[in-house]
Amino acid sequence: MPNFTRFPMRAALGAACGVLLAATAAAQRPTLGPAVRPFVVVDTSVVALTHVRVIDGTGAPPADDQTVVIENGAIATMGPTGDVAIPAGARIMDLGGQSVIPGLVMMHEHLFYPTGPGVYGNEYASFPRLYLAGGVTTMRTTGDVGGYGDLRTAAAIDSGREVGPWIDATGPYVQGPSPFAQMYALKDSADARRFVNFWADAGATSFKAYMNVTRAELAAAIDAAHKRGLKITGHLCSVTYREAADLGIDDLEHGFFVSTDFVPDKEPDVCPGQAQGMQALAQVDSSAPAFRSLVQDLVAHHVAVTSTLTVFETFTPGQPVPKGLDVLDPILKEQFMRNYERTQRNANSPYRHLFADDRAMELAFVHAGGLLLAGTDPTGGGGVIPGFADQRQVELLVGSGFTPLEAIKICTLNGATYLGRADRIGSIEVGKQADLVVIDGNPAENIDDIEKVTLVFKQGVGYDPRLLIDSVKGRVGLY
Ligand SMILES: [Zn+2]
Repeated sequence: MPNFTRFPMRAALGAACGVLLAATAAAQRPTLGPAVRPFVVVDTSVVALTHVRVIDGTGAPPADDQTVVIENGAIATMGPTGDVAIPAGARIMDLGGQSVIPGLVMMHEHLFYPTGPGVYGNEYASFPRLYLAGGVTTMRTTGDVGGYGDLRTAAAIDSGREVGPWIDATGPYVQGPSPFAQMYALKDSADARRFVNFWADAGATSFKAYMNVTRAELAAAIDAAHKRGLKITGHLCSVTYREAADLGIDDLEHGFFVSTDFVPDKEPDVCPGQAQGMQALAQVDSSAPAFRSLVQDLVAHHVAVTSTLTVFETFTPGQPVPKGLDVLDPILKEQFMRNYERTQRNANSPYRHLFADDRAMELAFVHAGGLLLAGTDPTGGGGVIPGFADQRQVELLVGSGFTPLEAIKICTLNGATYLGRADRIGSIEVGKQADLVVIDGNPAENIDDIEKVTLVFKQGVGYDPRLLIDSVKGRVGLY
């Protein structure tokens, strides 16, 4: 098709912006296409959830026997059942004994999975379905090895052509030279600026710096991203957490696992190796003055930290076999199970201590006033399965010492706050988008109940998690 639609489309976008200003907090619901419809089980413009326990995502205690009225994709009214008028024509769903929590807002997700030695396969079809099935209605793809893939997938979901969560699509890794075949190597700080601007023009709404970036390149990337109102996080190594905070980074990935701040005589701009970083980290703990001082610095600079316990759990001996492995292509499941068994036999694994240490550090960061985010990072040696792992991440935070209500807030409202979308998503509140996870149980009392998802609402449309999972069972790794 010739390209003459380009100008009219731009004009239409301009007009839409004006409309958006006047609209309510809930975004206009897209028309759902034929690839989405098979997974939809509730799609009426007015829905009343009655007798449900509301866990609102703010950390407030649960409210029992509530009625939540959803109208045109947003939460219209909410209150004790009996006090709330149910509009005529509403579809009434009695959810006695069940709970609703806000849709999860997960901040270290990917649309790729380790499919072979050093190889990441892109999972643009299966992963968004699994995320949504697990209760994730918003996610950041924290690093992109597919070029335009994340951006295209985010747009396809946004327009109702494909099924999945709303995606904050990260541009390709902001990285120096590295062994990763799919990554670009920045040349200098001018190149970093050009790179960020190029991908922001292409539609990236987020950036992630990686292990071999220099301070100068990171500074330029941060400045370029901030000039466009976009945020940038980092899985760092060559640059320390403290240096990145001073440069203005917004977020740091993987808890404190990848901090190289404690490496003795660390050479500036050089990654000493992840193993060396972890060795040094093992010498400090959450009460050490050096760690406390780092946390104070991060909090003072308003730098968030993203917990990704799920991926580290797969490296830690003594942890259970992850859930959801049956969605994998059988070869990949077998490959992961071999890794898992090797991990169990590794008596000298540094993760035996580090896993517990990092959890205590994340807790200390929050107690010092830090904004903790959470994600799963479906990489490593495999075994981190989207959706299933997102539920596991909430459970692991509770095991770290957070209350179930705090853990739910970290995985909902905290992510929304970071994304600047807390006026629309992240908690259950009148006027916000109806992104809700229906759970057959009470996760405020027993966090494992978070696995019992019966229905996921995104913008007021109800999706069946079972249908979403079954549609990709045995095929994850292929698409
Ligand atoms: Zn990652």
